[in-house]
Amino acid sequence: MVNLMAPGGTKQMAIDALECGADSVFIGSKGWSRRPASDELTDLEMKEVIQFAGNTGKEARIAINVMPCPDEIPLFLHKVEQYFAWGAAGVMICDPGCIHLVREHFPDVDIHVSVTAGLFNIEDIHFYRSMGANLVIIPYRWGVAEIEQVRNKVDVGLEAFLFQTPHRGWICPGRCWSSSYLNIDRWVDEEGKDHCIGSASRGGSCHRICQGEWRRWKADEPTPFTPRLKGSPELLLSEIPAYIELGATCFKLPGRERSTRLVCELVRFYRRVLDYVLAGHSEVDAFVPEWEALRQWWVEERVSRDNGRLHHANAMLREPENRVLNC
Ligand code: SF4
Repeated sequence: MVNLMAPGGTKQMAIDALECGADSVFIGSKGWSRRPASDELTDLEMKEVIQFAGNTGKEARIAINVMPCPDEIPLFLHKVEQYFAWGAAGVMICDPGCIHLVREHFPDVDIHVSVTAGLFNIEDIHFYRSMGANLVIIPYRWGVAEIEQVRNKVDVGLEAFLFQTPHRGWICPGRCWSSSYLNIDRWVDEEGKDHCIGSASRGGSCHRICQGEWRRWKADEPTPFTPRLKGSPELLLSEIPAYIELGATCFKLPGRERSTRLVCELVRFYRRVLDYVLAGHSEVDAFVPEWEALRQWWVEERVSRDNGRLHHANAMLREPENRVLNC
């Protein structure tokens, strides 16, 4: 069984993605899933999506992948318990202690190691397995050869991200805290969750400062170098047959911040690709023109969204009271 998992940045996106052919959706509660509040759901909406998925023979999985403070742990556990009581099929967590805690309380549920745990190597996979996780995301930096090397050495489900950074081997998702230094807004909600805007790991969203304009000076060179810290990602296609051959059981499409229209087109596209490969075909070249058009659409939405986020951060920093960076 291969699971196509789609993003649910809104209740409507989650329901539409399931209706367009996704087997499951992942959704996150406000302040708990590393996204802006606009791309997270209220608990009432979470319940409605979980129940819609269950009623249609599909699944909802919960991204609860921030790093809670000590006094937020009881609330974290309460939320997880509530989502499972409503019928959630699994949770995505990056904090090792929280993985261990959830496994202790819920012996039979699916626990995914979130991409933001930043897995590097097989020892990391062994470690998260020992904490209680039973599904891991294939590290961005790995290609087919690396998966082949470890496949029979780990007793764990493999999840592939249908999205690859072009900086394979350089940037490790989940290990970047640079945006946290622009800690320009913060509040505690009525349940006691501390929202730190700018710090994805603490429950706010990153400001995408890697997408801004940077200048780097060298002592002996008068002209600054202007690096692009992070380029546009690629959607995955050519590796899909090999990933399936190697036993990947879950293909995760990111994009809670994208438009519902784009997410639905991507779900329809990857549904056809996966069904084609699962029918025994190993050649996906015929899908390339459509894939390139979708990638272009993806990049346009991403650039527009990231620029808006940077603009917001810059505007906030122009306010005198926000000019002190909190380290
Ligand atoms: S600043 Fe860039 S690399 Fe760092 S977390 Fe944000 S998007 Fe990722």
